[in-house]
Amino acid sequence: MGIHMQLLIAILLGIKRNWHIFAGLILGVICGILFPQNQYPFVHKIFVLIGQIFINTIQMVVIPLVISAIVIGISSIGDNKQLAKFGKKMIFYYTIITVAAVTIGALLGVFMRPGVGAREFINPDIAQELQGVVSGMMADQQSHLAQILMGLIPKNPFHALSMGDMIPIIIFVVIFAIALSKIGEINRPVVSFFESIFAATMKVTDWIMYLAAPGIFALVAGSISSYGISIFHGVGKYFLAIVIGLLIQFMVVYPLMLITFSRVSVAKLYGAITEAAMVAFGTASSSATLPLTITCCEKRGISSKICSFVLPLGATLSMDGTAMAQTLAVLFLTQAYGIELSTLAIVQVAFLAIVASSTCAGIPGAGLITIALVLNGIGLTPEQMVVGFSFLFALDRIADMMRTTANVTSDAVVAAIIADNANEINYELFNNQEIQKDII
Ligand code: ASP
Repeated sequence: MGIHMQLLIAILLGIKRNWHIFAGLILGVICGILFPQNQYPFVHKIFVLIGQIFINTIQMVVIPLVISAIVIGISSIGDNKQLAKFGKKMIFYYTIITVAAVTIGALLGVFMRPGVGAREFINPDIAQELQGVVSGMMADQQSHLAQILMGLIPKNPFHALSMGDMIPIIIFVVIFAIALSKIGEINRPVVSFFESIFAATMKVTDWIMYLAAPGIFALVAGSISSYGISIFHGVGKYFLAIVIGLLIQFMVVYPLMLITFSRVSVAKLYGAITEAAMVAFGTASSSATLPLTITCCEKRGISSKICSFVLPLGATLSMDGTAMAQTLAVLFLTQAYGIELSTLAIVQVAFLAIVASSTCAGIPGAGLITIALVLNGIGLTPEQMVVGFSFLFALDRIADMMRTTANVTSDAVVAAIIADNANEINYELFNNQEIQKDII
């Protein structure tokens, strides 16, 4: 059986198990089309309210989950050599996946030329209300790169915690967990404390998933109803390029990675993480999806040691879907304004997209904000930059839902490869889609 057929069957099996979330997603699309925001503002408000409650509920467990997962992951890996080995592997696999993503994005941008003729749609009025906010944000991003870098090390970890700044939190927790693993038996009370926190947050995640179907329904309906299908006019090619690019990641790049570097069956992995992928699509947030990504991978037999180390770091620091979309967005804007970029400039854009995507938080719309870093110095006037950027901003949500699904899937792919290499997958469980491990 061809690999694409296997993928399809796996996804269908995953959907069969999670049919209610899938039904929510489809119904959301239908209701979003039937109740456009401009005609039914009240219905739209209800969608947004229910969706936001769902996102808030899952975000509530993210910080305790990330902290406890990293502490357990690193302290269970224990020795330095193994930790360094896993760290190097993560960097290696993520680099391949992200470089592939930006290359595909750049090639599609160059060959499909999605921006040509789109200028008339980039109407200065279209995003007028956004422009003030956007120019402030862009100035912030561009002039404060040094500050962004400095902000990665938290002066006060509790401040970072209270602000929900994931990257500084992770940097602190990784250092703290390595230190814990170095102090011997005396670390037991603290590690046990975090083990309890981890188990409890996973339990809460299980409960929250009962809300997933209505939550995803409302989120999807809310996005579609506010942007409407009409946004596809004029920028249809841009969306098409994103869809084709992401499909290449799903159907070619991830499978090739799994086949080349591991014994993991692509179809089984995709089947295992369908639920997380649907939640990623609905929430457009890889951080909010993280509890689900961990649950899906652990339930199918990928060891907790690997999941709790790789997935939180991956969900925060590596975003291949975002990097691809940023590359395409920049090419779209320059083409729309008739600016020809040299090959070297395109390579530069792709490189900056990798940097920008990894500094971006796993929350909705973050990828578009960090794009300001990439837009700098590519020949657009400040006016064009702000107008073009506001335009992208106005239609970003749907693109965001798609790229977040890729961001989450690539995390599971990298975790599965590393787990396979380290003999940390229970294949009996992994290959038998009907049994699930109880993780708590
Ligand atoms: N929403 C994306 C994520 O959470 C980030 C982005 O591209 O905006 O992965």
